Amino acid sequence: MKIATEEAFATEGLMKAYATLLEDGAPGEPGLADMVGRLLKPSNEWTERLAGQLLDLGDLRLTQMDEGGIDRQIIVLTAPGVQVFDADTACALAEEANDILAGAVAAHPTRFHGLAAIAPQAPQRAALELERGVGLGLKGAIINSHTKGEYLDGSGFQPILEAAQALDVPIYLHPRPVAPGVFATFAERQFDGAFWGFQTETGLHALRMIVTGVFDRFPKLKIVLGHLGEGLPFWLNRLDRQFQRSPRNVYHSWTAKRLPSEYFLENFWITSAGHNWDPAVRFCEEVVGEDRLMLGVDYPYEVCKQQVDQSLAINLKDPEKFYELNAKRVFKLN
Ligand code: MN
Repeated sequence: MKIATEEAFATEGLMKAYATLLEDGAPGEPGLADMVGRLLKPSNEWTERLAGQLLDLGDLRLTQMDEGGIDRQIIVLTAPGVQVFDADTACALAEEANDILAGAVAAHPTRFHGLAAIAPQAPQRAALELERGVGLGLKGAIINSHTKGEYLDGSGFQPILEAAQALDVPIYLHPRPVAPGVFATFAERQFDGAFWGFQTETGLHALRMIVTGVFDRFPKLKIVLGHLGEGLPFWLNRLDRQFQRSPRNVYHSWTAKRLPSEYFLENFWITSAGHNWDPAVRFCEEVVGEDRLMLGVDYPYEVCKQQVDQSLAINLKDPEKFYELNAKRVFKLN
């Protein structure tokens, strides 16, 4: 069996809300126009196909899955999700998206699983929505990195982390355009998106949580990173050494009790979404172990068949864990 773990969808409601926000200038969200503008006004065959595939939770998706040999998808609301809106709008859109996704999962129980969209800008309500989503059969939460420039290591987001730990479900920390504070530097060369910015943004987010001791406070918290851990496996050795030698009276926010790699190898799982490249996947399997690496496609931003075919050429130590068993364990699938 093959389970693809980072697969996107959108709702009509979300698309309309993006359009409204962009008409209002989307203050504080400089990456939004580039990210979703192409979906709202497709300008070529590629973006037209993308927009249609995102909105579909039926035959179109199933056909693509069949062509690629994907048995099941773990489906999430596409980035940047509801995190760009005011709290009330975001909570309403998340609820609607979760109802639609849970409905699709119920209609295709052997093909679809889903993660709940939540609004981190309203942490208490986000925690309740995660609980409600899990009650609907969803398997965790999707958070698209920063929310208005803020990260999950901020104390205000504790209710979300508490809920995820208490419910024993993972948070999938997914990319989005880089934060407003650094946006111009990336945008100057159009690096704010998937080319480079997504990975630095999301890797930064995970590292912020690691060094500030989030996993000392929430030792059972499970985080899933796509795109082969957003580069972090490649850095673990250097991160540990830098962390060890840096004096805490200077690096005062680095309050974690243990080395960065220790948390990465206990609290994190990674997927190969959009990154099914033989040497990189084998390197990650070596570094994080066979139990922490799962297949991802990143449909519809990537083509199922292309990514699966690329994955089949990888000389994995344990293909069954990669394609099936790890996803079943982390997301608690039947
Ligand atoms: Mn993705």
